Order: sequence, then C-alpha cells, then structure tokens
Amino acid sequence: MRIGGYVPCSLSDFPGRIAAVVFTQGCNWRCPWCHNPALVYPEKFTEPISVATILGRLAARRGKLDGVVVSGGEPTLHGGLAAFLTEVKRFGFATKLDTNGSHPEVVRTLLDARLVDFVAMDIKAPWPRYAEAVGTPVNAALLVETLTLLRERGAPHQLRTTRWPGLTDDDDAEIEKLANGSPHIWQDFRPAPAPSLPAQPIQSRRL
Ligand code: SF4
Repeated sequence: MRIGGYVPCSLSDFPGRIAAVVFTQGCNWRCPWCHNPALVYPEKFTEPISVATILGRLAARRGKLDGVVVSGGEPTLHGGLAAFLTEVKRFGFATKLDTNGSHPEVVRTLLDARLVDFVAMDIKAPWPRYAEAVGTPVNAALLVETLTLLRERGAPHQLRTTRWPGLTDDDDAEIEKLANGSPHIWQDFRPAPAPSLPAQPIQSRRL
C-alpha cells in the first residue's frame, strides 16, 4: 500500500470519533476539482511513507485515539488495504474507509472480514454527468453495486456530495434520489489544497 500522508489526530473525519487519517496515493479518477492532486497525479507524489512507519505511529497512539480513517486518493486500489486494516483492528481502533465507490468487490471483502466499521462514499453528480464530474469514463453499475451493498448490509455509512460550481448547482433533487435515503451530506467546494496533508515527510514530524 502506498501511503502519501498521515494526520495524527482529526476530530472531523470520523463521525463521533477522534481519529488518525491515513492518505493513500493514487486514484483511478481525475476529478477536475480534486482538492488532493498530490495524491492523484503520480508526478506529484512524494516519497511514500512505509506501512511499518504508520503502524508504529498508530501503535503508539493507542489510548489516545479511537479510530483510524483510510482516505486517498482511492484506497480500494491498494492490494495491501485488507492487511493494513487487519493490523489497525488488532490495535483496537475502529476503522473508516473513504471511497469513490468504484470497487464494490473490495468494499464487500472488507465488510465480510469486519475490517471496516464505517464507509464514506462520494456521490459526485447525477449518473448522466458522472464522467464529466470525475474526468474519466465511469461504470455506474459498480457505483450502484457499492451503494446497494452498503444499504443491504446495514453498514454504517455516509454519502457525500461536493457542490461543484456549474456542475451540481441544479441537481440537488437528482442526487438526493441517488442517495435514496442513506445519510447524505453536502460539502462546499474548496479550491485550496487539502490542509490535512502534511507539508513535510512524516519522519520530520513529531506526533
Ligand atoms: S475520486 Fe477523490 S481523490 Fe480521486 S480524483 Fe476524484 S476527488 Fe480526487
């Protein structure tokens, strides 16, 4: 698993929990308004932080945190995700996955293995405008599969939509229809780079 950033303590990324946030590098989409380009475009990647380093940091924070969020980029692209979450669960942390929903088979595997306690999934736009919103062709059936999986399993989850200027302005009703009663929040577009990414490599940060 390629890890590009780590935030040791967040009060806002995991509902009801004090959590560390781990950011994976790489994404299969190219949303024009992505606020984490350093985690999406390989030419912008920093030297990855080793999984062992992150696990060591998390182990040291037992008793201070009660959750760990894996965000990105798109975490479900990483073959080592289940193994990483297994270790995180061994430490006793609740886990949350942030995903764009494009890999339902990964979400299913993680839910089956009880490796995720909460899933946040983006709803970018109504289906006819999805490819425009994410900058690449999209198989909407996979997104529907993830949504259905979350609902049918009764998995604690939250859907999120960012208001993209000019794209989702008039689509509230369509998007709420996709959310189909799942917990759903709207977020304002923030053009600035995500402030939660460390400006320096983790090795130089005191946690
Ligand atoms: S899915 Fe998320 S991380 Fe990937 S390009 Fe879109 S906004 Fe950025």
